[in-house]
Amino acid sequence: MTSEKQGLLIDYEFCTGCHSCEIACREEHGFGVGTYGIKILEDGPRLRDPENDKKKYTWRFIAAPTDLCDLCAERVAMGKRPTCVHHCQAAVLSFGTIEELMPEIMRKPQQALFFPTGEREDPWAALQAKREANREIADSMKQDFSTAGESVDTDWENAVLDDKTREDLEGLIDEYQLVIKDDESGVTWLGDRYPDKLALAHIKTNTAGIMKILKERSR
Ligand code: SF4
Ligand code: SF4
Repeated sequence: MTSEKQGLLIDYEFCTGCHSCEIACREEHGFGVGTYGIKILEDGPRLRDPENDKKKYTWRFIAAPTDLCDLCAERVAMGKRPTCVHHCQAAVLSFGTIEELMPEIMRKPQQALFFPTGEREDPWAALQAKREANREIADSMKQDFSTAGESVDTDWENAVLDDKTREDLEGLIDEYQLVIKDDESGVTWLGDRYPDKLALAHIKTNTAGIMKILKERSR
């Protein structure tokens, strides 16, 4: 009987560690920074033969799909290959059914076969649902900023954080796990460093506006 289960065959002997698969996967799925559908792990550098040769090192890269890998279901449904496979210049990633890949894995060592269990909750759907909820929070906060009265009219482009303000702000930012950056041109709220908590908030405003809203929310 033929299994329809599909997977990725990873030949880690020749992976160059170029990270193209990581980036392609992130672009395809709209993952934020720090979220991976596939991640390059590194083993090394370490001496190949520490007893006899102190000059030759090995440095291995291993592409490891994460729980978010859905084997590019949408692309595959359109007859395309998964995007990581498509973008791997070293051609060390292969996609196929388990029946197709098993003979390949028997052909040489230093390969790994990955396939999702398909039995657990779909992690990608769960992440999307969280993002949707967080986007609503971000939108409501954006609304709050836009109705923050006089603070919105402040000349935020010239806003500068003094030490006390920065300290207060950092406490609140920590609490809300936000990332904020001030530079010569003012203050930019970049959104959350943790995409599963608050995504896609990119709001330019002034220090007073941020303080006002976050303080209100911290009560
Ligand atoms: S198959 Fe698709 S989802 Fe899975 S790691 Fe590759 S690019 Fe990401
Ligand atoms: S794109 Fe291919 S060679 Fe580059 S890191 Fe990913 S698996 Fe390795």
